[in-house]
Amino acid sequence: MRARLIDGKAMAREIRTGLAREVGELAARGIHPHLVVLAVGEDPAGQIYLKNQARQCAEVGIRHTLKTLPTTKTEEELVAHVMSLNYDPDVTGILVTLPLPAGIDAKRIQGNVWREKDVEGMNPANLGALLYGEQLTTPCTPLAVMEILRRTGTALRGKEVTIVGHSNIVGKPLAVLLVNEMATVTVCHEATADLARHTRSAEILVVAVGKPGLVTGDMVRPGATVIDVGITQIPDTGPDGKPVLDAEGRPRLRTAGDVDLATVGEVADLVTPVPGGVGPLTVAMLLANTVARARRLAAAPRGPR
Ligand code: NAD
Repeated sequence: MRARLIDGKAMAREIRTGLAREVGELAARGIHPHLVVLAVGEDPAGQIYLKNQARQCAEVGIRHTLKTLPTTKTEEELVAHVMSLNYDPDVTGILVTLPLPAGIDAKRIQGNVWREKDVEGMNPANLGALLYGEQLTTPCTPLAVMEILRRTGTALRGKEVTIVGHSNIVGKPLAVLLVNEMATVTVCHEATADLARHTRSAEILVVAVGKPGLVTGDMVRPGATVIDVGITQIPDTGPDGKPVLDAEGRPRLRTAGDVDLATVGEVADLVTPVPGGVGPLTVAMLLANTVARARRLAAAPRGPR
């Protein structure tokens, strides 16, 4: 392969080492980051991610509490629960895991997380602050992409960047972060007429869609940096092309990105693999946001209203 693979796991490890030091310094001043993760019902797909998150919090010294509430909770009860966490001085960070049960307005629940304890940056006030170039808390995946670009020494001023995917949690905040760094940004989505025209012009291409193999080598500008945000579970196949089965005879799944690494790797200069690229850095950014919230709360303790 021509391209160099970006090692997101190694970058995340370095960030965790720095955070563990920072948490130690905060503890010496009596400041103890405490992240409360609110989940409604037990989504089996999310359990591995939550365990991983808890393990990494423990590794850097962040207290992590998972509160799993029954699916019978109403939207009003969830808002009340979030409000009680907002006022709890023992809690420094709040994260609401998605998906929430049908009929519950996730935006309203996330919007009720006090912006000072919002570790995901999904409170509308925090998202709005981004437009002014003020980052109180920024969503973790866009931050992870920016961290990769910074750590690979990728200059942004005047660069042609194409983002494929315009979600509120990835594409849109990332576009703002990049524009704030004076990049020239194109945002594509499902209604984009000629996707390849936009991806081919990009010096930096970020793909956040959730469709494995969407971007192939012929869609990439030679020498580009390609960041693959996509995460999709697909059936694993052996060298013979047949599905690989697990011990119980069920098709084994593997994690796939949106980028066809075999062909894109022959054209691009730098590519993030999936798994092992953006994913580990997203969790590292969540930890970094959690530590930053605890530090700021201690410096300026105020109530939510
Ligand atoms: P989303 O479903 O909210 O948005 C998908 C975007 O893709 C939309 O903008 C849609 O218009 C666009 N799209 C769909 N089909 C398209 C096509 N054929 N051509 C161009 N654009 C198309 O998704 P999301 O929450 O932003 O997540 C996107 C992907 O990133 C998913 O695979 C998700 O699992 C993954 N993700 C990864 C991380 C991480 O840490 N690596 C974090 C968040 C999301």
